[in-house]
Amino acid sequence: MGVPDQVAEAIVAAGRRMDALGLVPATAGNFSIRLDATRLAVTVSGRHKGFLTADDVMVVDLDGTPMEPGKRGSAETLLHCGIYRRFPEAGAVLHGHSIANTVLSRAAGNRLVLAGYELLKAFPGLPTHDAEVALPVVPNDQDIARMQRGLDALWDGLGAIPPGYLIAGHGSYVWAPDMPGALARMEALEFMLRCELEHRQAKWQPLRPAGA
Ligand SMILES: [Zn+2]
Repeated sequence: MGVPDQVAEAIVAAGRRMDALGLVPATAGNFSIRLDATRLAVTVSGRHKGFLTADDVMVVDLDGTPMEPGKRGSAETLLHCGIYRRFPEAGAVLHGHSIANTVLSRAAGNRLVLAGYELLKAFPGLPTHDAEVALPVVPNDQDIARMQRGLDALWDGLGAIPPGYLIAGHGSYVWAPDMPGALARMEALEFMLRCELEHRQAKWQPLRPAGA
């Protein structure tokens, strides 16, 4: 069975939005929507995500096995599966590459704390800007199954559901009950990461020339 039209359209539209936000350079990024208890619709490998068509979306099961012959899923499909397997409330997943998430994740160690931002309200269970969010940062790995095992071990040790995670030098993952929710969280997260980057750059590089 193929991807329902409505689901394919939501993923194509998400790609245009992610592109407008500058989060899917070259063929980066991937997006998915949960179809039922055992299957999801996910973007295929290799397309520019700002120019997707319905044909660039395919069905896989929760182990990442393609349900449609002739289509190849994104290499990172297993990371989407890992989120749906672990978090029953996840209905849509977004992954993007930005300058802010790439630079900050390389410098962050194993977590990046975001505190004092109004947009923290975009994340569940954090009603005010006084809250802080610790975003897990995991090492990048071309062996995606191994990376997912690392994430599962990390999540086993966390008391609360994380708001998403960063892959060092690579990108960000967020999820929500539906695609509009996931887009809102991605936009909020990337806005805060950009603020964080600009704030740190301002500190790293004095605004007046050296010796002035
Ligand atoms: Zn990626």
